[in-house]
Order: sequence, then C-alpha cells, then structure tokens
Amino acid sequence: MPFDDAPTLATPIDKLSVSKARAKCFADVGINTLGDLIDYFPRGYQVERAERPIGELGPNQIQIARGEIVAVDYIVSPRGGRFEATLSDPTGKLSLVWFNGAYLRGKIHPGMILRVKGKVQYFRNIPQMSHAKWEEIPPDAPLVGEDLIRSVYPATAKLPSLYIWKVIDSNIDAGLKCVEEWFPAGLLKQRRLVSRREAYRGIHQPTRFAEAREARRRLVYDELMLMQLGLVLSKRCRGGRLSAPRMLIDRLLDERIRKRFPFKLTAAQDRTVWEIVRDIQAAAPMSRLLQGDVGSGKTVVALYAMLVAVANKMQAALLAPTEVLAEQHYLTLTSMLQGSAVSIELITSRTKQKAKGAVQKHLAEGKTHIAVGTQALLRGDTDFANLGLVIIDEQHKLGVMQRAELKGKGFSPHYLVMTATPIPRTLALSYFADFDVSTIDELPPGHQPIQTTWLRGEQRGQAYEFVRRQVAQGRQAFVVMPQIDENGLDEMRSVKAEFEVLSRGELKGLRLEMLHGQLGTDEKQAVMQRFRERQADVLIATTVIEVGIDVANATVVVIENADRFGLSQLHQIRGRVGRGEHASYCLLVGDATTEDAGQRLQAMTQTQSGFDIAEADLRLRGPGDFFGTRQHGLPAFKLADITQEIEMLKVAREDALGLLQADPNLAAPENRPLRQAIARQFGESLFLAQVG
Ligand code: ADP
Ligand code: MG
Repeated sequence: MPFDDAPTLATPIDKLSVSKARAKCFADVGINTLGDLIDYFPRGYQVERAERPIGELGPNQIQIARGEIVAVDYIVSPRGGRFEATLSDPTGKLSLVWFNGAYLRGKIHPGMILRVKGKVQYFRNIPQMSHAKWEEIPPDAPLVGEDLIRSVYPATAKLPSLYIWKVIDSNIDAGLKCVEEWFPAGLLKQRRLVSRREAYRGIHQPTRFAEAREARRRLVYDELMLMQLGLVLSKRCRGGRLSAPRMLIDRLLDERIRKRFPFKLTAAQDRTVWEIVRDIQAAAPMSRLLQGDVGSGKTVVALYAMLVAVANKMQAALLAPTEVLAEQHYLTLTSMLQGSAVSIELITSRTKQKAKGAVQKHLAEGKTHIAVGTQALLRGDTDFANLGLVIIDEQHKLGVMQRAELKGKGFSPHYLVMTATPIPRTLALSYFADFDVSTIDELPPGHQPIQTTWLRGEQRGQAYEFVRRQVAQGRQAFVVMPQIDENGLDEMRSVKAEFEVLSRGELKGLRLEMLHGQLGTDEKQAVMQRFRERQADVLIATTVIEVGIDVANATVVVIENADRFGLSQLHQIRGRVGRGEHASYCLLVGDATTEDAGQRLQAMTQTQSGFDIAEADLRLRGPGDFFGTRQHGLPAFKLADITQEIEMLKVAREDALGLLQADPNLAAPENRPLRQAIARQFGESLFLAQVG
C-alpha cells in the first residue's frame, strides 16, 4: 500500500475491511469513519478468565481449569446416557458432566491430565461443568494466559458487540496513530490524566479495570473541556470584539418605568433589574440568564429592560419558543403598555403577508419599539433600525452555534435569556458557562401555595365536583388537556369534543369558554378578555395557557391526561393558579401509564419548588432530554454524566479558562489539534470572529 493511503480518522469505514452491508449497519449507529469507530465507546466490560485452580473457580462464568481425572462413570437412562468424570487438583474436585456422552466412554479415563473450559455451576458446594470443552495436556503444559478484559459495545441485531470488538481490534492501531494530544504535558500531569492515545487504547482494550477507569476519566475530561472551551470562545465571540449600545438610565427614567407596573417590585426583582441595568450600561453585550420559578415575575423584569432600551432610542425584541407563547407575551405586554407611547408589534408565521410587510417596514424604520415573535424573527428577512436588546423566553435550547450567530456585524445587541425551569447547578455550569446568571428566588407577596392532588382516571368525577364547588364560591377554573399532535388539528378536535362532553355532563349549567392554538390572535384575546372579566367560569384549553395567563380569580386547574405531560410542563401549567388572594388547587387526572409518568405525578404532589422539579426532571429524563432532544444545539456528551461529574466539570472549567488565557486564540502550533477539534464541533465561526 502506498504511504499516502495510510488511514486517517476520516477514512470511511468501508475501506477498513468492513463489507458494504456491514458498513451500512455501522452507519445506522453513527459510525462512518475510522474516527467515529474509535469514538464508539464500550458500555461495559466482561472478563474472560485464565486458567485457575479448581478451588478458586467462581460460579456462573466461563472458566478454565486443569487436573487429573480420578473417576469416570456412565449412567444409562431412558433419555440417553450421561457421562460423568471427576477432575482433581490439589485445591479441590470438579465434577464434569456430558449428557448423551456415550461417545466419551473409553476416551476419557482415570489418570489423564485434562484442561477443561466451561461455565461453572455449584451443586451442593461442588463445582460442576456441563459439556466442558476439553483437551488432554502434558503434565508440564504451561498455564493459559492472563485474564482478558473484553469490551462490550452497544450492539444492534445486525451489529453484535463481538463483531464491533473485532473491527475495533483490527483497526485500533491505525486509529491510535492518528490520535493527537490536545493538552500540554504539564496540565495532564497536574490533573493526573493519561495521554489521549493511552486513553483510547485503555477504553477499548484495557488490560486492567483500573486502566479502563483512567481512560474514561481522561475522555470525560476531554468532553467537558471541549464544551467549556466552546462556551468561553462563543462568549468572547459575542462580547470581545463586538460592541453593544450603552444604555443610560437615571432616577427619572427608573421612576417612569416603575409607574407602569401596578405593584412594587419584590426585592429579588429589584436585584435582578439592577444586575441587568449594570450590564446594559456597558459597551460589551450582555449575556445573562434570568431564572425564576413560574410566577416569580420575570415578565416585568424583562419589560423594565425593554423600556430602558426604548428610552435610549433602541428597539427591543422578545422571542418565545413557539408562536403561541409569542402571542401570549404580546397580549400581556400590550395590556401593560396601554396608554403609553411605546409601540409594540407581533410577527409570527401566521401574520398575513401584507400585514407582515407593514410590520417589517415599521421595524426597519424604527417606528416599532418592541417586536414580539419567535426566534425566526432574528434569522429571517426582518431588519431592525437599531436593535439594542434581545430577550429570549423559556429557552434553554439555544445552541452554541446559534449563540455565535446571534451577533451582528461587529455590533451586537444585549442578550437576556429567561427560563422558568431553573437550570440545575451542573447544567448551568456546563451549558450556560458563557452566561452570567440572575435568579429571582422569591415569589410576589400574596402568592398562594397550590395544593396538588393526583386523581386516577376513575376518580375523574371528583375533579369536576370540586370545580363546581369552587365556581359556586365565585371562583374560576382551568381545564387543560394535552396537545395531541404538532399541527394542533387534533388538539382542536379534542378540545372541542371535551367542551361538548363537559358542557352536557360534568360542567352542565356553568359558563364555559374554549381556547386552543387554532384560534386567531384576536379570538384568543377576546376569549381571555371574557374570562378575565368573569363572563365565564371555566376555560377549557390546551397547553396554550402554559405561559402568561394571569387571572387572579382562577383557583383550580384540572389537568386531564396529566401522565402525558412532562414534569416542567405540569409545573408551568400549575403556575396558572395561585396568583390571587384565594387558596388554589391543582388536580392531576391520569393513570400511571408508565413508571416515569407515575414518578412525575408523584413528584408534582410532593413539591412546589421549581428547583426541585427541575432536579427531578433531570434525574428522570437525563440532560439530553432536559433541553429537548436534539434541539439544544449543544453536542451531547458520550461519556460524561454531568449529573455525577460536577467536580470534573469544575476542573475543566478552570483549565479551559487557563488555556485560553495563555493562548487566547489557540493559535500556538501545539494547540492546533485542539483548535481543530473545537472548530469541528462548534464551527469555525468561533475563531473567525477573533481574526477580523
Ligand atoms: P413568570 O413569567 O416569572 O412566570 P410573571 O411575570 O407572569 O411570572 O408574573 C406572575 C404574576 O405575578 C403576574 O400576575 C404578575 O403581574 C405578578 N407580579 C409580578 N411581580 C409582582 C410583584 N412585585 N408584586 C405583585 N405581583 C407581581
Ligand atoms: Mg413568563
């Protein structure tokens, strides 16, 4: 083979003595190249043992022993003969059994020295092997090798673990030649980490368990480092070279803004407002995460910041993850800004083309001060005259690449990301390392605790009796059901059907309204208006009401098919009540259709704290799903379990900062491999911004 053809990590798998058909199976598990292959890590190990003394044979594993045959017997039975032999060494006796073993008569006899291999089972304390593989050996034959630790790979029907092992075994040397070190020797020594090559060897072909552990530790470190470096670079990419508009604020402006709010800000809101104000007064773009439980009053804080922007002749954009939520925000803000000179507009994909043109024109001319929409608003063909502040609601799904993209051309707005699902500490450290965090850790005064009860399907009637009693006392209620499909058509059907059923049955005689995603913005607004003005007793809705609905007189929320909702979603919906002076209730109706569903419903009845809910959610779903599968835009960890690896995470964070301090652009020749790895994972743009 010519020298040039030496495999690289990019060499396709079907060039590695793997058939086309098998290559397809490899592709199905994401292995397309040699690099992917060596990045396919074992899920565990199994030991293939070497020869042992009989007295040391363990149960239920394939093992090898040797000894002298001291007795043989052949037992005739109607079901076929059984050949038995006893193997003996100085440490004990092993009983050997072969069913239908007539053929062994005369082959195995006392005095022979045998080596046998088979699975050992104990009967009455005597080790036994059935159908052992055997060979006669000379008395001085050397012992059979050392224990072999064999990697067990995540397998599929067409791709057994052993086959994967073989392919890796025959290609690992070629692969290792291409593995380059990422970090300086001094750092590795300080952290007691093995080299990258040793790590790849050790994770696939450990000779001792300790070696596999060390290998894993190193590779986890690499994963965490890569993520940390990506995050720090992305932050710098937004912040370092980019300048943001300085926004000024004085006492007068502060007073004017506060006058818009019908209440006094809580101490926690005040604190976060000042954290934000401090950021946006600076010329570097803000990257801040605002977390606060449902009902903690994030919207006002966001509105405060937007009004500062507007007063500074800047535009602000409020982005929600879905169009429905964008509409909700639009409705809330419009009502808070009634009678002010601030102009606010909503753009979603449902905005009619003609109207959209007008809105876009207003934005481009700077006539609109606040734009509300989804993230598409920033990506699409919409131009802003002078966008100074971007607020992203309910969004842990902002990927590193997107974060980098968000910047303008040498000019960046300030960014505030809000979330009601508090980010557990580990996740905050790993996924939001490039953000400063503000937390609203206090609920507004008068906030009511919400008593949560889980009713099984057959107890459903009780929920509606309870609703009737509350309505009789002058209160109002929500009934929420799951969204059945993405486009919302079934959702509408199910809400309509439920509306019919309830109005003729359980809720007969009450005044009902219905709200679902298919209603136009005006219709929704009208429905909400009627409900707020108490022209209706019960609002039957889909998850449309998840965020932003605020009716103090509503004290009960019934959640139908509660088992179908995610934990944080349930928590969000529950947060629709408990907003007034009356005791409030959440009734979860649903059966524990899965174990997880049961645990979710249980968790809801046990805690009201969004923080506990988030931790439980993380435990139940794992970090990938916590962020919404695939949508978070951040690479998933292959090895690192960040719910466990907090210490390592801190170490990686520290080291990443250290490395970048020493070589801010990773431009030194020895940092090339690392730089390439980062560019591969997060995109070259992280570095482009530095050179410009
Ligand atoms: P979040 O978005 O954090 O879930 P909201 O911003 O929707 O919470 O606020 C929840 C409710 O609390 C709203 O009815 C809001 O008007 C009210 N609220 C917010 N801040 C205060 C406050 N400081 N005092 C009294 N009520 C408040
Ligand atoms: Mg909110």
